[in-house]
Amino acid sequence: MSSIADNIRSVTRRIQKATQQAGRKPDSVRLLAVSKTRPPEDIRAAAQIGQTAFGENYLQEALDKIEALKDLPDLEWHFIGPIQSNKTRQIAESFLWVHSVDRLKIARRLSEQRPDELGPLNICLQVNVNDEERKSGCSLTELPELATAVSELPNLTLRGLMAIPDPNQSEADLKQSFQKLAHALAQLKQSLPGAIQLDTLSMGMSSDLEPAIEEGATWVRVGSALFGARPAK
Ligand SMILES: *Cc1c(COP(=O)(O)O)cnc(C)c1O
Repeated sequence: MSSIADNIRSVTRRIQKATQQAGRKPDSVRLLAVSKTRPPEDIRAAAQIGQTAFGENYLQEALDKIEALKDLPDLEWHFIGPIQSNKTRQIAESFLWVHSVDRLKIARRLSEQRPDELGPLNICLQVNVNDEERKSGCSLTELPELATAVSELPNLTLRGLMAIPDPNQSEADLKQSFQKLAHALAQLKQSLPGAIQLDTLSMGMSSDLEPAIEEGATWVRVGSALFGARPAK
């Protein structure tokens, strides 16, 4: 059985290789370790070999782990799951990044509820690039208006876009999905010149991080390749 440390090393090698093949700088892609359903000990094991960024989907579970790992001050918490509006306060108080904002109401609440002393909350807008039914995310059509409104909220920094394209698509379709997100970010950069920190594409998971990096991912969100298969929900 491979250890979490071995898995991190091997995923890091995959990232380095893909970055190199894409002609990108080695430090242009960061690894977000998706630790949902995993116990705090797994996060500790990853942190021990230098992993600092962790992604969580379920708020209560995340808050319990953040509390249990308070003694590790360098950890950086990212919320990547669907957001209910009655949960925004705790998200605004406990996370550094939120990747899954897909409507203005949620963004407004996060901005209002972000404690001043923590500085702005980093935001990615989740986009449903292929208009899949039953999937969160705003449409590519709604995106420009949502991005403009979010970029004006005082306690948020709009950093970029996130997508979860169906990993079971053909490789060509998957690449096209990642391209759509990259293209949408490029367009936003032109239409929102004031949003100078618009530098983030959160895309690519355990099975598709290579094509995502080829198309410009700056965060890859990797769970099972680091921590093993998750129990069925
Ligand atoms: C679970 C999850 C991941 C990680 O998926 P793996 O296939 O286990 O790497 C990435 N992003 C989001 C939003 C997730 O919910």
